[in-house]
Amino acid sequence: MTAVYDTHRGPIALSVVVPIFNEEEALPALAARLRPILEGCREPYEVVAVDDGSTDGTPGLLEDLHTVWPQLRVVTLRRNSGHQAALTAGLHRARGAYVISIDADLQDPPEVIPHMVALARGDGLDIVYGVRDDRSTDTGFKRRTAAVYYWLMRRLAGSFVPAHAGDFRLLSRPVVDTLKALPDQQQVYRLLIPWLGFPSGQITYHRAERVAGTTKYPLHKMILLASDSVTSFSALPLRLATAIGGASLVVCLAFLVWVLAAHATGSTLPGWTSLIITVLFFGAVQLFCLGMLGEYVARIYTALQARPTYYVARDTDEEKC
Ligand code: UDP
Ligand code: MG
Repeated sequence: MTAVYDTHRGPIALSVVVPIFNEEEALPALAARLRPILEGCREPYEVVAVDDGSTDGTPGLLEDLHTVWPQLRVVTLRRNSGHQAALTAGLHRARGAYVISIDADLQDPPEVIPHMVALARGDGLDIVYGVRDDRSTDTGFKRRTAAVYYWLMRRLAGSFVPAHAGDFRLLSRPVVDTLKALPDQQQVYRLLIPWLGFPSGQITYHRAERVAGTTKYPLHKMILLASDSVTSFSALPLRLATAIGGASLVVCLAFLVWVLAAHATGSTLPGWTSLIITVLFFGAVQLFCLGMLGEYVARIYTALQARPTYYVARDTDEEKC
């Protein structure tokens, strides 16, 4: 495989992309563990640390790390743009023949990286997924929501979605270039990458506890990711709206027959309860369907605006030119 030539260090074999948001507690541990592993590979590499608008001591720490670790490249986003956008920024700027994305909190063990590269090279694979062996280190809530997420995605998007493969994975240069050429906004990589259909393999690993700090994925970000995942890969909810509409129509017709019969036999009751139930039921169905429609309209709206999902304020590698 041909590597992209870097004027400073020659061809880069390996890029490690790390999205980072307020990880001052985890960063020292990450650097201490990641660096010896990458140096041990004895190939030119770079670490693309994407600072996703951190507001704690992360920017200062990255600056310090950059001065003592020349292969650590810092890409600073103008503001917090979200995990997937930070990943996008990293993938767009990575130069390696292989690009590996890994979280900053050491939940994904960096020791797996050399195995991923060896598997990709040995079997001629373009994608190697890191798949969690179990989720015993996640909270019960996270385990349950993840189980629902992967079940839903495999049904909505297709069975090509590997279950429990998060964002710890290796991509070859052709995959990265294909991703870069896609016009999609709000990319959900864990669905988009399997969909591309490149030859792929898996490495199972044990997902550890977060080394320090707290999760940067609160519930509302999880809901956003789930909503993006569904609307980017399936029009089924829209069809579901049609199905619900159809079913309501049948119920409506049955009601109509009943009402007319009651009218004909002169046994019309005050009917307040049934009236309220009907109004509430159909009101709810209509709002539900409108809401689903709204999700897709929002997606079209965002796609039409075609705004970049991130802006880079600084890239330490560009300062060398
Ligand atoms: N992250 C990011 N931007 C965000 C939220 C998270 O770059 O807006 C990074 C975070 O620093 C970490 C990775 O994305 O490296 C995964 O986040 P986290 O570990 O908090 O998620 P969890 O493992 O709890 O799902
Ligand atoms: Mg984590």
